[in-house]
Amino acid sequence: MLKILRTLLLFAAFTPLTTVHAASPSSAKKVSTSHDAWGHRPGARGFSTVILDAGHGGKDPGTTSPFTKQREKDLTLDMVERIRRELKGSVRVVLTRGSDTFVELDDRVRIADRTNDAVLVSIHFNAGPSHLAGPEVYYWRVDSFSLGQRTFSALARTTLEKHANRGLVRRRLRLTRNPSIACVLVECGYLSHSSEARLMSKADYRARLAKTIAGAILDQRAQGDGKLGPLPKPLNEPPSKASDRRQ
Ligand SMILES: [Zn+2]
Repeated sequence: MLKILRTLLLFAAFTPLTTVHAASPSSAKKVSTSHDAWGHRPGARGFSTVILDAGHGGKDPGTTSPFTKQREKDLTLDMVERIRRELKGSVRVVLTRGSDTFVELDDRVRIADRTNDAVLVSIHFNAGPSHLAGPEVYYWRVDSFSLGQRTFSALARTTLEKHANRGLVRRRLRLTRNPSIACVLVECGYLSHSSEARLMSKADYRARLAKTIAGAILDQRAQGDGKLGPLPKPLNEPPSKASDRRQ
């Protein structure tokens, strides 16, 4: 028994980082190491599939607006449906959830890893001090920089000028580090900001945001890194884990 335990521990200690994020007791299937686990490569271009991830869901409502009482999990689902409609006919779309269900972050990564030829866009809404407003986009991998940049710039042009914007931020999260495809996380705006929350409660404003995000994805598909260089330098950090401090 002890020997088996020691063997298991040794195996765990020497399992390459590239497979750690996919290795859980409930999952016998490991992500192929032929995938690019670090993302040190040019930006995604000509991809066949877009994975749209509606943040939160089910028992996890995300943030709730103190002004409109709208829940993040409902708005993210609404947004991915809208983005899907915008992308229809141009590219295949996969949703990580299509209803009000709870999906673990690592399972969202596994869904993304089923398709090599894809990008992942995770949709969220922000919360913070009441003066903060505007879109914010997170990326980590080199191959995700231009998708993040295009999405952020397009959103910053679309959202009202009086709102600040929060920029393109390099942040290692499970959905920006761990998938083996280019991946970004989009915070559409602040539900904690009184006027932005009211805007986001309007369907026509969300339709505009969705059209903007879909347009940025299609620009990326057509142009790859285009003229967006220089690319950021590669960072060799391990996959993000559930035990990482929440940011
Ligand atoms: Zn969120």
